[in-house]
Amino acid sequence: MEKKQFQAESKRLLEMMINSIYSQREVFLRELISNASDAIDKLYYKALTDATLTFNKESYYIKIIPNKEERTLTIMDTGIGMTAEELETNLGTIAKSGSLAFKKENETKDGHDIIGQFGVGFYAAFMVADVVTVNSKALGSNQAYKWQSEGADGYSIEGTDKETIGTEIILKLKENSEDENYDEFLEEYRLKAIIKKYSDFIRYPIKMDVTTSKPKEENENENVEVLEEQIINSMVPIWRKNKNELKAEDYENFYNEKHYGFDKPLKHIHVSVDGTVRYNALLYIPENIPFDYYSKEYEKGLELYSSGVLIMDKCGDLLPDHFSFVKGLVDSEDLSLNISREMLQQDRQLKFISKNLAKKIKSALQSMLKDARENYETFFKAFGRQLKYGVYADFGANKETLQDLLLFYSSKEKKLVSLEEYVTNMPEDQKYIYYATGDSIERIDKLPQTELVTDKGYEILYFTEDIDEFAIKMLMTYKEKEFRSVSSGDLGIDNEKEDSKTESELEEYKELFDAMKEILGGKVTDVRVSKRLRSHPVCLSADGEITIEMEKILNAMPD
Ligand code: ADP
Ligand code: MG
Repeated sequence: MEKKQFQAESKRLLEMMINSIYSQREVFLRELISNASDAIDKLYYKALTDATLTFNKESYYIKIIPNKEERTLTIMDTGIGMTAEELETNLGTIAKSGSLAFKKENETKDGHDIIGQFGVGFYAAFMVADVVTVNSKALGSNQAYKWQSEGADGYSIEGTDKETIGTEIILKLKENSEDENYDEFLEEYRLKAIIKKYSDFIRYPIKMDVTTSKPKEENENENVEVLEEQIINSMVPIWRKNKNELKAEDYENFYNEKHYGFDKPLKHIHVSVDGTVRYNALLYIPENIPFDYYSKEYEKGLELYSSGVLIMDKCGDLLPDHFSFVKGLVDSEDLSLNISREMLQQDRQLKFISKNLAKKIKSALQSMLKDARENYETFFKAFGRQLKYGVYADFGANKETLQDLLLFYSSKEKKLVSLEEYVTNMPEDQKYIYYATGDSIERIDKLPQTELVTDKGYEILYFTEDIDEFAIKMLMTYKEKEFRSVSSGDLGIDNEKEDSKTESELEEYKELFDAMKEILGGKVTDVRVSKRLRSHPVCLSADGEITIEMEKILNAMPD
């Protein structure tokens, strides 16, 4: 049987692609810069294997040239260039990636950072341009060629003049219309911002002439505007550097530069993993709560880079909810990206990374608790509530991860203690971990229910946040010790000796108690003699699982 090839309506395909792959127009620049960087990389790898070539890093760069008069934006590189044939195959065929082919051919050589793989990025240029012109001269060739296209209508290739090896892509920007504005891609500040956002860690310098004002030579008091060539990107990703080369200050500067926060982070976590999934990560524990942290608006997530190029600015899947306060980034060359490079094809690698990171975050917090208590308490005051939510959510599934990170105010120590510290300090005869709930420390101090427990010399944990008791109910026990509210019916304290009230005495009060109960109507189920009061005449007590405080919260919740 004869096998037929699929026909593709390439015009339509191109149009669809241009208009539907990317969610943001500005990524055209990311794509063209990535291609330029790949082209320089290829030259570099060629030089590694060819003794007749020398690679002098200084002479390789990318330049962005906006021209307001002509309404053009040029992206030029000093990379490997393209022959007429390569222009034809790589730019004339949708989904043909010369870079992917290059990677395959050179597979044995380790460590290349070539970004391209799908063969569609280049066409992103048509999101902003009517006409795209590519002038290119390939390494080892005497003749330069010009490729030109107005998009769907096809392209032309002809010889042209170009002195140096490399490629220059000239975008004739689309005309502005009522609701579309393309002029922004001619503005220095805008271009700078886009380069910083997506391409800050491209390894070759991205240069641009930037208007700066300088004192006039003949008159120092007067300024003139001059164009000065600047390198816009920072090139070396700090997270790929060796930890020994970096000081605490470098990490802090990066945190502020990245606008993760205006505070000084309490701790950074720098991870390099070279296993089944290779990745680098740089995470921070902030000091201050973001203003919207405990609201629906807050979006958790880390920045996700693939070989130094930004893919997502908030990848939520990288962080569990209970660590949603963590800021930072992950860079991996092992991600399987989707064609727009805005999303991931599958999340196996992501799951692997996020699981690993959660472990690292936990141990970083634990070491902070151990070695920098003051910092930890600052952290806990800001984000402890989130950890408690974490215990409460998932029905205690995060118990192991989170229980050792919790702190509560202690009646005895008069400061925050961990559950471990509490249990270590328990006298041998103490059966339970006691807690009392209330609005504030002062109010709990005055609770009559605490008297017996404190009299016994036992420590009480003060639960002043709504979530506390709910979280503890999920934990159920800590180191096999049950939690028990001081207002529960049974405190498990043997106090027969201290208390001399006999059955007959109780009989004696029966009438009084019945009268009290009647007066209180349905508000109480019973009035009894209490064995736990010392200086107070009366207290409320609850039977069963739900304590008085929990009941209050549950009643206050909307149905
Ligand atoms: P990808 O980068 O995913 O391969 P693109 O559509 O961005 O796909 O580019 C297609 C191909 O065109 C690249 O693989 C590369 O071979 C070639 N190419 C694009 N831009 C350049 C450039 N500036 N210099 C050299 N070759 C380039
Ligand atoms: Mg590309």
